[in-house]
Amino acid sequence: MTKTRLLDRYAEARDDMVKLLIERGIADQQVLKAMAQVERHLFVPLPLRNHAYDDAALPIGEGQTISQPFTVAVMTEALHVGDGDKVLEIGTGSGYQAAVLSAMGVRVFTIERIPSLLKGARNVLEGLGVRYISKLSDGSTGWRELSPFDGIVVAAGAPDIPKPLVEQLRVGGRLVVPVGSHEFQQMKVITKLSDRNDFEITDLSDFKFVPLIGKEGWPSERNSGDDSSSSQS
Ligand code: SAM
Repeated sequence: MTKTRLLDRYAEARDDMVKLLIERGIADQQVLKAMAQVERHLFVPLPLRNHAYDDAALPIGEGQTISQPFTVAVMTEALHVGDGDKVLEIGTGSGYQAAVLSAMGVRVFTIERIPSLLKGARNVLEGLGVRYISKLSDGSTGWRELSPFDGIVVAAGAPDIPKPLVEQLRVGGRLVVPVGSHEFQQMKVITKLSDRNDFEITDLSDFKFVPLIGKEGWPSERNSGDDSSSSQS
């Protein structure tokens, strides 16, 4: 056993998680490399650490979840971003997806609406030396002052495509957002084609997310999602 493995008792579990992502169809080497690198166990509550590399969403408090690894991989792959690109994440949650994006060399901007979650995520991200910019706010309307973004990823289920987010993409940029009912959402990838109202929408598979709460989201708190891909048994 190498020194690294002695220091990181989760390394094998993380490798297995990445193998499963490949088996499930994730092909983007940058995404796989980043997910092989980021220590997901640091983003989950202590009592759940032994499940950190299961392909499952896990509770992080406040009725919210850290997304399932497969979901994070699908969304990150769909963004088509890389070194130096500027990405806005809506729903910081545990901070895990922000860390994955940062490991890909992305400049990360992230918004969370629940103070205790943002505080926890900041602690972990700062402890790991991850560079990012965050704010506590309703992210459903984006972050107009810092736009345009090369990519925007929404880690919570929206009733419709939030229009301000499409406006805040640069031409050629992509918005990845789960859209649908409280029960299920379809992952949509919206590519902005021009500065006019010109975009292309691609539908990926169904997922189950916690709700996006806010001006361009759901009006009130009602947690029915668990942030996993609906195809998972
Ligand atoms: N990306 C996160 C991670 O890697 O752990 C998972 C996020 S969790 C599935 C969804 C998050 O979206 C929750 O933390 C929730 O509080 C947040 N959220 C919901 N509506 C929001 C809004 N309007 N603005 C910002 N965050 C929001």
